[in-house]
Amino acid sequence: MGMYDTIFIDKKILKANMMVCPKCGAIPVSFQTKDLNNLMDCYYLKLVDGSTMRLFKLDDPTDKKFWHHFTPEEKEENKKNKSAWFADLYAHDGYWEDEAWLPENRHQRDMGELPHQWLTVFDLCKHSGVYVEIEYRIKFTDGCVETIEKVEKK
Ligand SMILES: [Zn+2]
Repeated sequence: MGMYDTIFIDKKILKANMMVCPKCGAIPVSFQTKDLNNLMDCYYLKLVDGSTMRLFKLDDPTDKKFWHHFTPEEKEENKKNKSAWFADLYAHDGYWEDEAWLPENRHQRDMGELPHQWLTVFDLCKHSGVYVEIEYRIKFTDGCVETIEKVEKK
């Protein structure tokens, strides 16, 4: 399976470029790519100045309003569970809620003139047990998107 990075894409870009499931028209939540560092990092492709598409690197969540502190009941529950994973979770005193991971709720780092390459991004949409592949190639020049091409599946 291997490692990859995650790319969130602004819905306006997805709609303008028809980047949807060819079978049901669903808009992907995020795409994966193996063309960056494959470090399980997250990126966000969005519009800057209305028309330029640029990639931003997302920091891990930091906004404390999305931090869920364990309630006393949850702490009791965690104590009962002896697994190492829960012990580790317990040590953190809480967890990030799903909203914390959305691109708009994370610090977005300007990547300057990067990337400068082709990026292949893909997602899967499940249809009663069968996965439909959604794949695109995006060309970046000095950090700005030049073209978005659909990869036709045989
Ligand atoms: Zn679909």
